[in-house]
Amino acid sequence: MAPAPRIECDVLVVGGGMAGATAALAAREAGARVVMARKSPGSTGLSGGAVSVAQDPACMPDAPFAARSGVVESARRIAATRPGHPYGLLRDRLDRLWNAVEFATGQLSSVLAPPTGRNRWLLTPFGHAHPAAACQRTMAAGDLAEVRGTLVVCGFEGHLGWDPGLVASGAVRVEPLGGPRPRAVLLDLFRWEEGAVGTPFDLARLLEAPGAAEEAGKILKRILARGDAAAVLPPVLGIDPAARVPERMSAEAGIPVAEFLSDLPSVPGLRMHRAIEARLAAAGVEVLGGEVRSGAGPDLPAAVGGREVVARSWVLASGRFVGGGIERRGELRESVLGLPVQASEGPFADPSIRFAARAAATLTQADSRAPQALLAAGLRVDGELHPLDAEGRVVHPRVFAAGAVVGGHDPASDGTGMGVAIFTGWLAGRAAAGRGA
Ligand SMILES: Cc1cc2nc3c(=O)[nH]c(=O)nc-3n(C[C@H](O)[C@H](O)[C@H](O)COP(=O)(O)OP(=O)(O)OC[C@H]3O[C@@H](n4cnc5c(N)ncnc54)[C@H](O)[C@@H]3O)c2cc1C
Repeated sequence: MAPAPRIECDVLVVGGGMAGATAALAAREAGARVVMARKSPGSTGLSGGAVSVAQDPACMPDAPFAARSGVVESARRIAATRPGHPYGLLRDRLDRLWNAVEFATGQLSSVLAPPTGRNRWLLTPFGHAHPAAACQRTMAAGDLAEVRGTLVVCGFEGHLGWDPGLVASGAVRVEPLGGPRPRAVLLDLFRWEEGAVGTPFDLARLLEAPGAAEEAGKILKRILARGDAAAVLPPVLGIDPAARVPERMSAEAGIPVAEFLSDLPSVPGLRMHRAIEARLAAAGVEVLGGEVRSGAGPDLPAAVGGREVVARSWVLASGRFVGGGIERRGELRESVLGLPVQASEGPFADPSIRFAARAAATLTQADSRAPQALLAAGLRVDGELHPLDAEGRVVHPRVFAAGAVVGGHDPASDGTGMGVAIFTGWLAGRAAAGRGA
């Protein structure tokens, strides 16, 4: 059999979620030849549309929006109170956090609105208001800190996927903090049956069709009342940003139109995944679909997608349990280089704990609100983002880790998921390309 064609490059990024994409693009910007290996969209492709970077842990829940700390200041406070969190480990470099956020949002500007430095407040499908340093363009007009007047929270008549009353209850709770008064309504968009039983992806495609967004805008306009300042709809306002679904609706309705955040399945997640794919291609990152199994590390061949890749540096951006970077095969272990999985905070705060060989049940607490060590399990890294072995030694000077594969934070729930992915991805990509922060 002919040997697999070999690719030689400066940086191999394992993982194509937000951390891997940011690392690859940062390394490309630094002039490196970059190959990315990824087996799936990862949790980034499931995410709800918010880019959560930091919320001030010291802030009182009833503090008005306008009195809240900016995003970087909030990250500094997290770093001060949680030394095992990636922001804590990188506290001396947090002055570059905003450079990283601006870099990633600029690279993905086809889907992401420019960040302002403070958190936007976005409604979730479950009746909460969620702070986010950045969000998809389709969501920016629903920022509760900015809407002046009544916010019209829409559901779809005859479709059980979203409850506008529940969504609006999130706005009711934060109205005293400076948010708008919400009004829940049902839009009767689905006189055609396939709409009423459609998945979010079906609905998004229906609204992209010529005339459909305009028709939806006219229906919205008919139920508007005096004082209505903006409308938020279920997160199905088109998959392709070029279809301009919110803009077309807004032009007919006469008020700004936005989406609220998404649950699964997530149209915004797919939108983000596609935007990442397009940006990587435009930037000249070579993407190989497939799994890197038991790679040996820098300067040695790694098999992926029928090719053999030899890279001077590696960035492990392989995610956590959803992405597949950390797996449980009797014990927790990192899936590509077989590194030990640890965590350095929470009730099991001993950083010397090696989770491998411990039963997963010993890493959880029955009180679901208590910190769960299992959910913060991941690689232990140093301040340069080098993974460490069980004895705390750097595994390899040219292997870096980024994103959810790094332990010490719970990316799905602690409000720093995308922020950690972007900051560590940016730092790791630059370091792997031979450029420090
Ligand atoms: C349902 C859900 C909703 C979320 N919503 C939000 C949100 O709205 N806002 C927010 O800030 N955060 C959100 N998060 C958290 C956020 O999505 C993650 O923190 C972030 O996406 C992590 O990015 P990542 O690149 O580190 O990992 P991932 O996005 O998981 O990417 C990991 C990548 O590694 C690849 N990979 C793994 N192993 C291998 C291998 N051996 N070979 C090749 N490729 C491999 C995977 O295929 C994937 O491409 C959400 C998480 C979930 C699960």
